Amino acid sequence: MEIEAKRWGFRGKQELNAASASTVRGYLNLLMGNINKDNSSSVIRLGHGDPSHFPSFKTTPAAEDAIVDALRSAKHNCYAPSAGVLPARRAIADYLNRDLPCKLSPDDVYLTSGCTQAIEVVINVLSRPGANILLPRPGFPYYESRSAYNHLEVRHYDLLPEKGWEVDLDAVETIADENTVALVIINPGNPCGNVFSYEQLHKVAETARKLGILVISDEAYDNLAFGSTRYVPMRVLGSTVPVLTLGSISKRWIVPGWRLGWIVASDPNSILKKSGVIDSIAEFLNVSSDPATFIQNSRHFL
Ligand SMILES: *Cc1c(COP(=O)(O)O)cnc(C)c1O
Repeated sequence: MEIEAKRWGFRGKQELNAASASTVRGYLNLLMGNINKDNSSSVIRLGHGDPSHFPSFKTTPAAEDAIVDALRSAKHNCYAPSAGVLPARRAIADYLNRDLPCKLSPDDVYLTSGCTQAIEVVINVLSRPGANILLPRPGFPYYESRSAYNHLEVRHYDLLPEKGWEVDLDAVETIADENTVALVIINPGNPCGNVFSYEQLHKVAETARKLGILVISDEAYDNLAFGSTRYVPMRVLGSTVPVLTLGSISKRWIVPGWRLGWIVASDPNSILKKSGVIDSIAEFLNVSSDPATFIQNSRHFL
């Protein structure tokens, strides 16, 4: 039999090209590939966003001990349930419940391989032909890549530098239409380092509610807020608009290689539940791989 290369040659390639062209790693690989090898030792890799490479940024011994204890117990060598182990889901719900008017339950929490997989899951779940998603500019390029891969149309709204990187809500209203599924915010902001005020989040919630869309709040930098604005999580406004919070231990604990993240649904009015979004998240996690079980069970340091 003659194997036809074109048969595989290949749906996905175009999507992969579109996707990797806009990732931080894609750009870095392109740059590093073009550096004159003789000079490469004098290049300072400012695009290398991983402080754990440097000896001055170490995680706490409490986190290391939790991992070692979980591993040595020999109780966590098994597969984990798709949504994650219950004690870890409970620990994350408790951790995120501080100051929340509507309390989360462990059932609202889904564990993922870092915040990266959390993004992958929500973009997959929300993608359908003709749909679009509103992303911040500047933002975190993985959203663009994942959307390109899933044929989800991206529409950008600007963050306004003269207003401390607030969301341009007029633009949001202009670019949204009946096929818009969600608005993504990143709080605390990457790459701008801003923190949204409660008033700003309130306006975001009101706008999303008016447009009938959900808010995805990427809080990968939860608790790493600098400046005078107090950090408030978007989910405090969950009764105004449904919120999916995405987070992970990567940044706060300086352990991006440990790959533990989460999707948390703040949906007191059951809008996401009734519309099937929650079931789709659970189903997606049934057909994907889970964070390592002993990492999930080293929750004591959260
Ligand atoms: C780092 C980062 C992520 C990815 O986090 P991981 O847990 O390392 O996968 C997602 N969103 C933002 C805004 C980030 O800065």
